[in-house]
This record gives sequence, C-alpha cells and structure tokens, in this order.
Amino acid sequence: MHFSDLGIAPTILRALETAGYTSPTGVQAEAIPAAIAGRDLLVSAQTGSGKTAAFLLPALTKLSERSTGKGQGPRVLVLCPTRELAQQVEKNALEYGKDLRWMKTACLVGGASFGYQTRALSRPIDLIVATPGRLMDHMRSGRIDFSRLEMLVLDEADRMLDMGFIDDIETIVKATPETRQTVLFSATLDGTVGRMAEKMTRDPQRIEIARTETSGGTIEEHLLYADDLNHKHRLLDHILKESGFDQCVIFSATKAYTEELADKLSDQGYSAACLHGDMPQSWRNRTLNDLRRGRIKILVATDVAARGIDVPTITHVVNFDLPKQAEDYIHRIGRTGRAGRDGTAITLAESKEFHKVRRIEQYLKRQITEGVIEGLEPTRRPPKGPRRNGKPGGYGAQGQGQRRGSSSSAGNGYGRERREGGYGRGTGSSSYDKRGPRSSSASQGQRSTQRAD
Ligand code: AMP
Repeated sequence: MHFSDLGIAPTILRALETAGYTSPTGVQAEAIPAAIAGRDLLVSAQTGSGKTAAFLLPALTKLSERSTGKGQGPRVLVLCPTRELAQQVEKNALEYGKDLRWMKTACLVGGASFGYQTRALSRPIDLIVATPGRLMDHMRSGRIDFSRLEMLVLDEADRMLDMGFIDDIETIVKATPETRQTVLFSATLDGTVGRMAEKMTRDPQRIEIARTETSGGTIEEHLLYADDLNHKHRLLDHILKESGFDQCVIFSATKAYTEELADKLSDQGYSAACLHGDMPQSWRNRTLNDLRRGRIKILVATDVAARGIDVPTITHVVNFDLPKQAEDYIHRIGRTGRAGRDGTAITLAESKEFHKVRRIEQYLKRQITEGVIEGLEPTRRPPKGPRRNGKPGGYGAQGQGQRRGSSSSAGNGYGRERREGGYGRGTGSSSYDKRGPRSSSASQGQRSTQRAD
C-alpha cells in the first residue's frame, strides 16, 4: 500500500517523501481513508504505531482546501495530555504541512507565554494543538471561537482521563459545533474512555491496532530482578558501561529521584539531565532540545514528562523503577526503536515486585524475558508461577533477550547466592531547583516516594 492510495492531498504527499516515509503503517492505512471520508473514529493504537500521522494527515488534507466557514477560529483542534506531546504534534503538523504555506498553527500549553499564545489567537488560525487546562484558560477569557471547527482530535484520550481532565474535555467538546468530525486515539477503548468516546462521536468506526505493531524497528526487551535499590544501581552501572548506548532514557517513579539519579550520573561523568513536571517549561524545552541535539546522553525522566519524546537516536530505555500503570510500559519502551531503528529496553524490578511485573505481562499478553548479569544475580527469587517454565532468556553475558512482539518462555535463571553491599541511599529535594539538576540535594536517607510528574 502507498500513501497515494489513501486520499491524502498531493502537497502533503511531497512532505512525506521528504520525511522519508515510504509506506503507511497499519493504523495509518486504516484510519486515514476513513477520516478523509469524514467518519468519526475510535482508534486504539499505541505510541510508536504512527498514530500522530494517522490523524494529522487527514486533518492537513482538510486544511489544504479553503474553509467555507465564517470566523477566524481553528478548523482543527488536537487535545493532548502533556505539553511535550502537544509540542511534538505541532512539530509534526508543521513538517507534514510544510507546503501549506498559509497554514497557521498554535500550541497552547501551560508553562509557555500567555502573551505569545494570545497573539497567535488574535489572528486567523487553522490548527490548535493544546493541553486541556491551558485551552480552558483561553476559552474562559473568550479568546477562542470554535464556530468553524471541522475536526476534533483527542490524542491519548485514556491518559487525559487518568490525569483528571474529564470535566475539561466535556466542557471543550460542548463548546465545539455538533457538525464536527471527532477522532479519538487511545491505548484502550474500554471502560470510562469507551463510554466518553461513545457520547462524543456519531456512528464511529472502530479501529483496533494490535499492541505490538509499530512503525519503528525492533525493541529487544530484558527483565532483570534485583534484591534492593543498591543492587539496581549496580545493575544500572553495568548496563551503562557495557551496553554501548548512544542515548538512553531512564525512567524513575518520582520527580525527586529523577534529579538525584541525574546528579549521580553527572558525577560519574555522563552527560545526564532530568525531566519532570515540576521543572519550569522553558527548562523542559531546553532539556529536550539538548537531548535531540545529542548534548544530553542520558535523560532521567518521569512517565508523564517523557510522553511524546521522539528522538530517533535513543538506543536504550532503562526502567529503573517499574511503571505504576501497565500501559506505561509500552509508552516507555516506545522511546527507543523509533524511525525504523532498533532499540533495547531493560526493566529492573526488585524481587518483591514480581506481582507488578506479572500485571505488566498480563497487559502485554506476553512475558518479558528474564535474564541475569553474571556476578550481579539476585539472591532472592520471585515465587514460582506460570512464567517459570522455560530457560532463562538472559541478558548481557547470558543471552540476547526478547524482541518486542514475540512471545517467549522465561525461567528463573538465577545464579549463585550473593549478598549485596551497602550502597548509600539518597533522597532528593522534591521541588525543582532553578539551578538545574545538579543542584538537587543528594543527601543520604530514604528514597522519597512522590507522585510522578
Ligand atoms: P507516533 O506513533 O505517532 O509517535 O510515531 C512514531 C514514529 O514513527 C515517529 O518517529 C514518526 O516520525 C514515525 N513514523 C510515523 N509514520 C511513519 C511511516 N509511515 N513510516 C516511517 N516512520 C513513520
């Protein structure tokens, strides 16, 4: 199948060639013709599946024709859960729509200048990408006119609900014309998100894309059990020394610990920085730019802050802490293996967290291959269960791990008995310090447990 079979405007097809896209991904092949035909869509697709282009290409095809509507408000509105994702979506829209020279876009997210956004809204605008909170601020001040809105897109709708945006979303949807086309993307279409989706769409076409399909390369996944925090640090040291990574994203469960870990890695001589939701937006943007330019080699991030990161040179993802929600596992590992390249995702879990690992595996409907690093084997074993019926997959010295999408058997694979030494536990300050990641407290004590992002 070719992009030219999908009904996309010729001016946009040229930009896709420049972007190096040769053929549509599964979600694009299904969603683009239906959206161009004007259908409402409910799409379950993961990050990494090419979902952004699946809604932007029909939206831009609409924008390639002049509006017949009166007013100067947006013709397309895309709602995203996080600032970073919204910025990434606007960037993609400008890339795919580079030949629509008249097109005006605005990205309305918190932490950015109100004045700049207000100026953008005072002129005719074609496409707005926004987070619900900031969009509501502009709506309250009467700056947004939805009278000519043709298309509403909800990207990562499940995440927006998780983040408590349901009331804002309902208010925004009510403010838009009933004649609009509604396209909703979500990792899942079950439960609350499914009910909300049914209410806001008319005779929607449902498109379900298998979780494993991606537009990217292969991601090799490994699971390493550790006895405790100290052991996890030693595994991380080994991974960073031996893996030959180009750029790496490390996920931590708390904002404070992203700072602490970034500090520790900087002290070890890595070019490392943290990214979390308490950092001023200008700092978050600068960090992401530095990551894109390769100035930062290791980014230590919380889940929410890392959504939308699309940097093809990220070769490794390390889950230093397990994700709180199983679907975040997919989002995390999807930071590597992008734009057709291969990647490696390594998950560290304390043995007592085996039930959380099982929950992730139940969600994935497959097992993550468990491995060990020679000399760094855990002394405690997770209880025997359905997953321990095969050979260890191994990591590093013992094997090659598992490719995303394949199922695999996994076994215990634990080595000799070994007690861990005493790595100093630290606590970071919970608030972000403007002097940057290195300024956070690295004092000793218990690791703080703070809400991520
Ligand atoms: P997304 O799922 O929208 O986050 O996209 C994941 C990655 O795939 C991004 O780096 C896109 O630039 C890239 N991508 C999207 N569609 C295609 C395609 N048809 N061919 C190659 N890469 C693509």
